[in-house]
Amino acid sequence: MHAPEHSAAATSAPAALDGIEKAPLITAPVQTAGRRSLAGLTRAGLAEALRAAEVPERELRMRVSQLHHWLYHYGAHDFSEMLNVSKHLRAKLEALYTLDRPEVVSEQVSKDGTRKWLMRMPSTGPLDKGAEIETVYIPESDRGTLCISSQVGCTLNCSFCHTGTQRLVRNLTAQEIVAQLMVARDRLGDWPGAERPTDGLIPDAERAVSNIVLMGMGEPLYNFENVRDAMEVASDGEGLSISKRRITLSTSGVVPEIARAGDEIGSMLAISLHAVRDDLRNELVPLNKKYPIRELLDACRAYPGLSNARRITFEYVMLDGVNDSDADARELVRLLKGIPAKINLIPFNPWPGTKYACSDWERIERFSEIVFRAGYASPVRTPRGRDILAACGQLKSETEKLRARARLMAESGIGAEGVYGAVSDD
Ligand code: SAH
Ligand code: SF4
Repeated sequence: MHAPEHSAAATSAPAALDGIEKAPLITAPVQTAGRRSLAGLTRAGLAEALRAAEVPERELRMRVSQLHHWLYHYGAHDFSEMLNVSKHLRAKLEALYTLDRPEVVSEQVSKDGTRKWLMRMPSTGPLDKGAEIETVYIPESDRGTLCISSQVGCTLNCSFCHTGTQRLVRNLTAQEIVAQLMVARDRLGDWPGAERPTDGLIPDAERAVSNIVLMGMGEPLYNFENVRDAMEVASDGEGLSISKRRITLSTSGVVPEIARAGDEIGSMLAISLHAVRDDLRNELVPLNKKYPIRELLDACRAYPGLSNARRITFEYVMLDGVNDSDADARELVRLLKGIPAKINLIPFNPWPGTKYACSDWERIERFSEIVFRAGYASPVRTPRGRDILAACGQLKSETEKLRARARLMAESGIGAEGVYGAVSDD
């Protein structure tokens, strides 16, 4: 069993990357003030909480199962709902713990049905205002995908990514990662017997959230243990029940952790490739200086369980005049030869202050055609939720955004409408 969350927090903080890291990684909260919430804990974490409530060892397994079922199957908010737990134990738990979720600071619903929640994690003391993160829900007709964050901000500084410009970074705990899924289920009425909202598209499926992508803020393989433990909770068949085949972990290419991710997390894998030459990829994804394309692709070839039915997704952001030529497309196909792969072309999502622009539609189509002719499915990812800055790479906490907006306004003399108008173009 893995260590409980509150002692495992931020254990895998990234080692400093020469010339890449911009701020020290601050550590995650150890203990929230007052009663601690159990929502989001692993089975090991629940067992430890029950032990602290003096539940005898011989009952522990059974009590963990009960709590787990109430939390992750029914989405309980209150110990009083747990009718198969004795009154005495419920009172004890109530005195020590809560089932609170992180605070939802704001909810935005895009005109395409995408929802973005800004969540604030519990404060750890008077000096901590509580970390803020964003989680995005993308409904389609037959599925609903939740885009989860693994860190507050990101240390990796990819030049086209808004998240990478956030200064303060810390790992999320496993509990905070699972809590994002619980909040989404709360807000979408995605628990047995709960009511679905009527103000936007919810898929015509049993589950409003059927898939998870670890594509929000942060580099999941720099927070390995917490991501692994959280996905264990998310995929537990007696609880949240999202099968590992419906969980995709996206990495910018942390080569030494890829095999381990296959063994210990077992999700689907997506690689943020974005360039076919090391000189360009060094610029777009600076981590490439440490783990160049050849090493990255070798690690992909060795990823366990690959087959034509279980492919690696290669993400490729379309940057106008940067990486979008016919020659780039042909080289992409050549590089991926022999790897069961899908190629996902992502139109670049602009953000205030970026130096890049999205390739025009004809260019994307032409690129996609070359890839398609070479035998790859090459879906172009439709930008979702651009009007609420919820699309890939646009995530950044509200406070950071307000600061950036104030800076931009001061520098350029334009009003806030002008800054955001630039991205509200569809
Ligand atoms: N850190 C991980 C996962 C989060 S980013 C990674 O980099 O893979 C999720 C995806 O969004 C990545 O493929 C990333 O390269 C892409 N992305 C980042 N900024 C973007 C932008 N402005 N427009 C389009 N895609 C972007
Ligand atoms: Fe971090 Fe991914 Fe953004 Fe790069 S693209 S800065 S790895 S979140």
